[in-house]
Amino acid sequence: MSNPTKRACLVTGGVRGIGREIVQQLVARGDTVFVFDVIDTYAPEVEALSAAGVGYCVVDVRSKNSIDNGFCALDSWLQHQGACGLSLVVNNAGITRDNLALRMSLDDWQSVLDINLTGAFLCSQYALKRMIRQSISYIISISSIVGRTGNKGQVNYAAAKAGLNAMTKTLALEYASRNILVNAIAPGFIATAMTDTLSEQVRDGIKAMIPLQRMGTPADVASVVCFLSSGNADYITGQVIEVSGGLV
Ligand code: NDP
Repeated sequence: MSNPTKRACLVTGGVRGIGREIVQQLVARGDTVFVFDVIDTYAPEVEALSAAGVGYCVVDVRSKNSIDNGFCALDSWLQHQGACGLSLVVNNAGITRDNLALRMSLDDWQSVLDINLTGAFLCSQYALKRMIRQSISYIISISSIVGRTGNKGQVNYAAAKAGLNAMTKTLALEYASRNILVNAIAPGFIATAMTDTLSEQVRDGIKAMIPLQRMGTPADVASVVCFLSSGNADYITGQVIEVSGGLV
């Protein structure tokens, strides 16, 4: 077993939901963590992160300019913390805009692709430039099982997550020689704001389909992020790991 050292990490969409739990687990293991999110700096959830020593910048991952500003803020913050270079990026920011394909507006198609896929690509590109000189580093994207299975009403989201899986495999091939390990985690149904909007009847239907008969928790996903970046999983790259309670 290797001894995990303190790492400098970036989590996108880290204020709420799964991202927040990822941030909390990374902080708990002693990492230095920075968050990009669209939520105002003075929001209570952001102030709570700051109180826990987490760095923060308002970044909308749809915009290259915003990401550029965010990485400048991250660089100065890491320097101020005396942290060595960036070791882990978690591309977690994501949204859904569901509708049947025939009714889907171009706007809903584009926003989901922009945030879930292009945003993850741009953040990975900025990160790679910083990771290339590290001895080992990690890019982990939060995908979804629907990227493999498809899902009625989610043509935009399923396409974005399938793209994220393909991006993961390609980046893993391109940067393996630099010891940059690139993986994706594909959750099934996780209880967060994204799934809170579903009716109780729909949620019961979902639970009945899941072999483990419960929705997942943000902690179920975050613990896999921690494992993949722990130093104990350094022979794993280019994989999409499903965290779905056994959904096939
Ligand atoms: P949440 O909506 O709970 O959290 C997403 C976070 O990302 C929020 O803080 C949100 O801010 C932020 N965000 C939204 N848009 C942007 C943007 N343009 N730039 C930066 N940050 C942004 O979602 P979940 O925690 O449920 O989902 C996290 C990831 O997990 C997503 O990639 C999602 O696709 C994936 N996933 C989730 C599943 C689930 O069942 N919940 C299942 C499979 C995958 P704000 O709240 O203000 O919008």
